[in-house]
Amino acid sequence: MAVDFNWDEITFSFYKTDNMFVAETDEKGVWKEGEIKPFGNISIHPSAAVLNYGQGLFEGMKALRAADGSINLFRPLENGKRLNNGARRLVMQEYPPEKFVDAVKKVVKANIEYVPPEGKGAMYIRPVLWGTGPVLGVGPSAVTTLLIFVTPVGPYFKGGMKPIKLKISKDYHRAAPRGIGGVKAIGNYSATILPGKIAKSEGFAENIFLNAGDDESVEEVGAANFFAVIDGELHTPELTGSILPGITRDSLITLAKDKFGMTVRERHIPYTDLPKASELFCSGTAAVITPIGSVTIEGKEHVFNNMEVGETTKKLYDMLTGIQTKKEEDPYGWIEPID
Ligand SMILES: *Cc1c(COP(=O)(O)O)cnc(C)c1O
Repeated sequence: MAVDFNWDEITFSFYKTDNMFVAETDEKGVWKEGEIKPFGNISIHPSAAVLNYGQGLFEGMKALRAADGSINLFRPLENGKRLNNGARRLVMQEYPPEKFVDAVKKVVKANIEYVPPEGKGAMYIRPVLWGTGPVLGVGPSAVTTLLIFVTPVGPYFKGGMKPIKLKISKDYHRAAPRGIGGVKAIGNYSATILPGKIAKSEGFAENIFLNAGDDESVEEVGAANFFAVIDGELHTPELTGSILPGITRDSLITLAKDKFGMTVRERHIPYTDLPKASELFCSGTAAVITPIGSVTIEGKEHVFNNMEVGETTKKLYDMLTGIQTKKEEDPYGWIEPID
């Protein structure tokens, strides 16, 4: 099958591919062998726990074509482990992380022609874990389903990195202390749809959400982790339980310390500290590293680095994407080839 894509036109939206992976447990929660199936609609019980009570998780990963033509994943085992943390929190069956990586590779291979050429984007991989058994009262489903689909996406920054404008959300929180903000539970994201829509209507790219307990410390940007460069140090919110522990976040902390000798502080960052920063950016699989050019705090706009990409932001971006595309050495074993 020849794929007829205009690789220069693809954006971050869903394009149908050929195949998906599906695995399911039996009623006792024992995994049956998963398989590659043609991509298509699925049939689900109307009383399924995922549909009625949000017993669902997702992951987000990318397969990238490197300079040498090979196709690689980035730290996929970490996604498998994080999915299992979420499964424990939402009382679903865990899936063995090594088998998870295997399944991801199978789906990428079964859709290999949809991996964009180097520099034209990535194959975005979306694993979901759902409670698919019927429930009526709130409680765990007996059956868990793992489904993995993929779609090609364009580069996040068309025509170069562009700093975004954000606002501090004073009207809405993303996740509650001791809630489910620390896992990729689907309900966390429905909570951000309205504030995200409002922010966009006001001309912002997204919200910066504050901790719901103190209403003061910075947590995250929509679905990306937050970083600030203050006095030449790299600061990022400490993982409080309501922040999603990003794999990009973890990788950047390592690179900042190891490759650039920076002091990294994971701490409580009151939003009132932000004007002290020389650079701000956010990070995630989809956004990679996105520079933040301005933050509006209670109606007042604070501009960072003249709305230009900062030096630290740029060097971290170049190092991370360099490792991901094998232009830089990978001493950490982060790159996992699709063989
Ligand atoms: C997925 C996600 C991130 C980024 O995690 P990565 O592993 O770096 O992709 C950050 N914050 C939230 C809320 C997320 O859902």
